[in-house]
Amino acid sequence: QAKLAGRNRFCFFTARMNEEAEARLRLESELRRAVGTEQLFLHFQPLVHVDSGHVAGVEALLRWNNPELGSVPPDRFIPQAETCGLIVPIGRDVLWQACQTAKPWLECGHPELLLCVNVSPRQFQDGGFLDDVAQILRETGFPAANLELEITEGLLLRERGDIDGLLHGLHAMGVKLAIDDFGTGYSSLSYLERYPFHTLKIDRSFMVGMLERHERKVLVDTIVAMATGLGLKVIAEGVETVEQLARLKAIGCDIAQGYLFSRPVPAEQVLALLETPFGTEPAITKPPAVLH
Ligand code: C2E
Ligand code: MG
Ligand code: MG
Ligand code: MG
Repeated sequence: QAKLAGRNRFCFFTARMNEEAEARLRLESELRRAVGTEQLFLHFQPLVHVDSGHVAGVEALLRWNNPELGSVPPDRFIPQAETCGLIVPIGRDVLWQACQTAKPWLECGHPELLLCVNVSPRQFQDGGFLDDVAQILRETGFPAANLELEITEGLLLRERGDIDGLLHGLHAMGVKLAIDDFGTGYSSLSYLERYPFHTLKIDRSFMVGMLERHERKVLVDTIVAMATGLGLKVIAEGVETVEQLARLKAIGCDIAQGYLFSRPVPAEQVLALLETPFGTEPAITKPPAVLH
């Protein structure tokens, strides 16, 4: 009896594992076919100066709309693309598209606008990364100084390769570097000293309960103070309420990003966002009318 039950359970798990493996393969083959098509496109989310309400920059965020699978969130397909290596061509397209799309915004009266693009560890392993970046900047005419590459801190631990050389190479090209999702995963404070980072992005998980939980408050205060002391620009991700914003302002966090201001939007809506500063006082903060 027990043996039989055991075997059945084994069969059950195997069947489910097969299903999962099949779903993964399906996702992968669909993704492979999506590369270079309009199934993959970018949305942009504003990064807002907490004092003036002006848009300091935009983060490019990849979207995948598949005719069969519907809209697949990046948290599902990016890890998969990393595992199978597809992230290398995808990441190159993302950077090219982002630079190409954002260049006219700089020329339309926003020369200081920062374009933030996420970069995945696998793109670093691929030996041609520095050349790719240089080539894309050349081809699109996008200024290096307006480009900020966001790197998750996990990368720095996991990747062997010549991370030092790579990051210093990017820095030498004039490209800015941001440490993304700071405070999650494998934080090592020594990275902040070792690598030429310009910006630190506090992970959005820290915004949750930031006003209620003493410990969390202390952590956010401390991260902001530390980053500021090191001469880094600080961006808080995932800001959803005016109370969080007020607190961030009070502790000297420069820039905020989150649904409070705007969700990621299609490229066509970006210029309108750049024209009108957001309110940053509790009473007047509301998303610009054009979006709704
Ligand atoms: P991330 O780089 O940390 O990007 C911020 C994520 O937080 C985005 O999710 C954004 O939509 C979301 N977000 C922004 N404000 C708020 C808020 O107020 N509340 C909440 N709950 N969420 C907010 P998204 O677009 O789903 O992207 C998820 C992750 O996928 C990104 O996290 C990034 O790690 C990765 N990703 C997205 N696009 C790319 C890409 O082009 N290349 C690579 N390598 N990774 C990408
Ligand atoms: Mg990011
Ligand atoms: Mg992040
Ligand atoms: Mg993230």
